[in-house]
Amino acid sequence: MPTVVIVGAGFGGLRAARALRRAPVQVVLLDRNNYHLFQPLLYQVATAGLEPEEIAKPTRSILRGQKNFDFRLVAVTRVDFAAKRLETSAGPIAYDYLVLAPGGETNFFGLDSMQRHGLGLKDIPDAITIRNHVLTCFEQAMLDLDAEQRRTLLTFIVVGGGPTGVEMAGALSELIRLVLVKDYPRLNIKDVRILLLEATDRLLPALPERLREAAGKTLWRKYVEVRFGATVADYDGRQARLKSGEVIPARTVIWAAGVRAAPLNATLGLPTARQGRIPVEPTLQVAGHPEVFIIGDAAYREQEGEPLPMVAPVAIQMGHSVASNIKRHLRGRPLEAFRYRDQGTLATIGRNAAVANVYGLKLSGFPAWVMWLVIHIIQLIGFRNKLFVLINWAWDYFFYERAARLITRD
Ligand SMILES: Cc1cc2nc3c(=O)[nH]c(=O)nc-3n(C[C@H](O)[C@H](O)[C@H](O)COP(=O)(O)OP(=O)(O)OC[C@H]3O[C@@H](n4cnc5c(N)ncnc54)[C@H](O)[C@@H]3O)c2cc1C
Repeated sequence: MPTVVIVGAGFGGLRAARALRRAPVQVVLLDRNNYHLFQPLLYQVATAGLEPEEIAKPTRSILRGQKNFDFRLVAVTRVDFAAKRLETSAGPIAYDYLVLAPGGETNFFGLDSMQRHGLGLKDIPDAITIRNHVLTCFEQAMLDLDAEQRRTLLTFIVVGGGPTGVEMAGALSELIRLVLVKDYPRLNIKDVRILLLEATDRLLPALPERLREAAGKTLWRKYVEVRFGATVADYDGRQARLKSGEVIPARTVIWAAGVRAAPLNATLGLPTARQGRIPVEPTLQVAGHPEVFIIGDAAYREQEGEPLPMVAPVAIQMGHSVASNIKRHLRGRPLEAFRYRDQGTLATIGRNAAVANVYGLKLSGFPAWVMWLVIHIIQLIGFRNKLFVLINWAWDYFFYERAARLITRD
C-alpha cells in the first residue's frame, strides 16, 4: 500500500489522517508533540481557567482505532522532494504522498526585544509561562514596598486587537478583578492596569462595525484600556516604548499581534508568500511536486482576491480536501479544487460577553456568548475534555473562581 506521511497533528493534519481511515493507504502521522492541541482555548490556560490536559489529547489515543494509522514523535527538519524522503530527528522517513501541515508560529515582525522579553502564545509551554508570570507579578507586588514598582508589576499589556488579543485581555481582566482581588486583599486594585494596544484603528477587523464597537465597549466595561494607533517599538522587560514616543512601564507584555508559517516552510526551498506561507495549487498540491500537498496555516491560497485566513476551519476543510484528493489520485480520477466555506467569526470577552458573526447571524452579548460556549464544546476533541471543560466553566461561572492558578516551575 502507498504510504501517506502527514507532518503535523494539528487541525489540518489530524483531519486528513482521519479522513483517510478507509483508504487503501498506510497513514504515518509525524509531530514533535505527542498531542493534538485545541489552540483557541490556550488563552484560558494562560489565565488559569483550564488545565493544559483539558484542551489537548494524545494523538495516539485519538486515532487508536484506525487500522491503517501509525504515529511517530519526531521533529521534521528537511524534505528531499527528489528522493521522496523526510529528514527527521529520528532519521529518514520515506513517503509516496506527503501532506505538510506544520501550522504556524508567533510572528514578532523582527522586533528582537519583544521576542526576548515579550510573551507569545502558541503552545502549552507558552500558556504556562504566561500563567506563572502573571501570578508571580502579583506575589512580587505583595513584597515590593515601592509604590511605583508595584504599579509596574501590576501593569499588563496585551498587543494585538485580533481575536486572541481581545480574548486574552478580557480573560486577564476577569482573572484579576473577579478572582485575584480576593487572593490579594492587601493590594490596591486601582494599581492594576490592563492595556490592549492595537496598531490600526479597529479591533477584530473580520467583524462588522456594530460588533467591533460592542467588543470595544465590553472591554472598557471590564477596565481594559483599549488604545488604537498604538504600535510598540521596543520592550526591555521593564518598559514598553511606543512609536509615538510614549513609554509605558510594565513587567508584562503579551504578544498577540501576529502569526507566520512554521519554520519548516523556510527549509523547503520553495517560494514563499506573505507570512512565510507557501503558495499551493487550487488542489493544494505543490507546483512541480504532484505527490506533495500543503495545508492549514503553512499554505497560501487566495479566494476572491483575499488570502485565506490562518484559522482552524481553513485547516480542517483543507485536511478533508487533501484526503479526498489522495483517494481520487489513487483511483486515477482528476483532483478537485479546494473551496473554503466561511462559517463566520466568534470572539468571547469574558462571562456573558461575546461577539459572533456566524452563518450571517450577527450577535453580541449573552446570546453570542452561549453560541461561543456551545461551538467550542462541540469542537473540543474527546468526551473527557468536553466534560471537564464544562465542569470548570460552570464552577468558575457560579463561584467566580479559577482553579488552575498555580505557579509551577518552568
Ligand atoms: C492562541 C491562539 C488562538 C487561536 N484561536 C483561534 C480561534 O478562536 N479560531 C480559529 O479558527 N483559529 C484560532 N487560532 C488559529 C488556529 O489554531 C490555527 O489556524 C490552526 O491551528 C492551524 O491548523 P494547522 O493544522 O495548520 O496547524 P496546527 O494546528 O498549528 O498544527 C501544527 C502541528 O505541526 C507540528 N509541527 C510543526 N512543525 C513541526 C516539525 N518541524 N516537525 C514535527 N511537527 C511539527 C506542531 O507541533 C503542531 O502539532 C488560534 C491560534 C492561536 C495560537
